Amino acid sequence: MKKEYDIIVVGAGPAGSTAARYAAKNGASVLLLEKDRDVGYPVRCGEAVSHEGVLQFIEPDQKWIASTITKMNFISPSNIKITMPIDRNIGYVLERRIFDYELAKLAANNGAEVVTKAYVYDLLKNENGVAIGVKALIKDEKVEIKSKVVIAADGVESRVGKWGGIDTTCHIRDMESCAQVTVSGINFDDDTLDLYFGKKTSPGGYLWIFPKGKNSANIGIGVSVEEAKNKSAISYLNDFLEKQFPNASLLTRIAGGVPCAKPNKVMVKNNVMLVGDAAHQVNPVSGGGIITGMIGGMIAGEVAADSILKNDLQNLKDYGVKFQKRLGWRHEIFYNFKNVFGGIKDESMDTIAEAIVKLPIEDRTLAAIFRKALWREPSLIIDVAKVFIN
Ligand SMILES: Cc1cc2nc3c(=O)[nH]c(=O)nc-3n(C[C@H](O)[C@H](O)[C@H](O)COP(=O)(O)OP(=O)(O)OC[C@H]3O[C@@H](n4cnc5c(N)ncnc54)[C@H](O)[C@@H]3O)c2cc1C
Repeated sequence: MKKEYDIIVVGAGPAGSTAARYAAKNGASVLLLEKDRDVGYPVRCGEAVSHEGVLQFIEPDQKWIASTITKMNFISPSNIKITMPIDRNIGYVLERRIFDYELAKLAANNGAEVVTKAYVYDLLKNENGVAIGVKALIKDEKVEIKSKVVIAADGVESRVGKWGGIDTTCHIRDMESCAQVTVSGINFDDDTLDLYFGKKTSPGGYLWIFPKGKNSANIGIGVSVEEAKNKSAISYLNDFLEKQFPNASLLTRIAGGVPCAKPNKVMVKNNVMLVGDAAHQVNPVSGGGIITGMIGGMIAGEVAADSILKNDLQNLKDYGVKFQKRLGWRHEIFYNFKNVFGGIKDESMDTIAEAIVKLPIEDRTLAAIFRKALWREPSLIIDVAKVFIN
């Protein structure tokens, strides 16, 4: 490891590895630091992504695909199941342990140095508060490493951005509290995602069953943090499991937060750039942040390398502009949609579901669903099927 790099990326999740990959590919010297011993582990994710999303970055590979998805079931509060075929935008449930590892390998193959068991605990700053590197604990040794730019890819609990003077607070009303188990010993349709809605099942969010092969699935839930004050996400999940799968073996349990907000207003300051969950780049409707974080990482990596090669760090601001043009505007629409959707009563959802379920499956186009929903609840459903997988 050198004492100085053009760019240090903190965190080897999908956003960080992608930022490191594109920064290195565009000519910068890059160090990618990950606090955990292994890239990709532990996994705190439902692991669902769209084929189109993945394809922008990596050729789909069976070694990190647990299931290939061609259908989605939307289940209303009173259990009306609406099946939507999605074969034109096929999706995957990943093995993120392997997927994340492959992304870090891509970063390394493009020239980035990847170091694990490397915990960044502060920034190095000049007298004006501008970042000039990081302080890290690497394999139990304190080190200081210099860089021109620091990319904060340290996830939802990001601290690097705050150290750089960026307000990364996510309002409590926009945080989803999530809990998930991986269950085994039960037969699942391995090509179908199930999404349950309703105030009794998952207030302010939804409950998901994402199959991992035929006998295993990630079953998880997101509820708004405000609702979780009264009853925790894990309690809602336990209720569901007890009712639906009382004999399931639970192989993993995780909990975590997802920022379902608009992207952070400030994404670059004092030569620190935010990407992924650290920048609130998650799709606010679905809570999916893998692909959107990778898009953020790619843009940040390219802009950072370009700014360094041009010797013009003012140019880093281009990142915010480019992200807004590519995804930010869309996330703002999704954010508004989420707020409209969250206000719909269970009874209205059921009435709409009753109308949609009468349509033959092949006629369940977004336009047809929108017409039905509009008939009952004018402000509802814009692009539900598309937005639930990134
Ligand atoms: C229960 C749950 C289910 C989800 N399901 C889905 C889903 O189905 N599909 C989807 O697209 N998204 C899903 N998400 C969201 C998705 O997991 C995140 O949006 C995505 O992982 C964000 O990627 P990232 O690279 O920004 O951050 P992360 O993947 O969180 O990676 C951040 C990395 O930074 C490292 N790090 C943190 N601090 C430091 C430090 N100080 N020094 C060094 N390293 C550090 C961490 O160890 C970690 O490896 C889910 C989230 C949760 C909680």
